[in-house]
Amino acid sequence: MPAPPSGGGLPDAAARRIASCHCGAVRLELDMPEGLKDPRRCNCSLCSRKGAVMASVALDGLRVVAGQDALRLYTWNTHTAKHWFCGTCGIYTHHRRRSNPNEYGVNAACIEGVDPIALAKAEMMGDGAAMSLVGDETHERRGT
Ligand SMILES: [Zn+2]
Repeated sequence: MPAPPSGGGLPDAAARRIASCHCGAVRLELDMPEGLKDPRRCNCSLCSRKGAVMASVALDGLRVVAGQDALRLYTWNTHTAKHWFCGTCGIYTHHRRRSNPNEYGVNAACIEGVDPIALAKAEMMGDGAAMSLVGDETHERRGT
């Protein structure tokens, strides 16, 4: 595993990255031409429980290179957003966004070379237009 970049921050821009779940069953290949841009948290009812920091990847920039069979899909409410996680270790790896179906959100802490501690400072942001309102009851019901 490559060492995190000096400075304790996020990796510099690099076109291609590998992300994996904890047990290693699931591996994703990510095209991230802008690097880990704008990592963020989401305050929806699911993400607030996960607490994951997410990075954005274009739909055609994510490939499941291993563990397609291990992936489990979770949806709720409108079933628009698709939340995938490893059925063996339970780690959330990525999801297709409701707010922008042209993007995946990827669990930044699963990306090789990313320092999860540095991500702790990631800004809390919603994954949709109404999601920046912490505790927004409408959003809580609607979900993503
Ligand atoms: Zn796993």
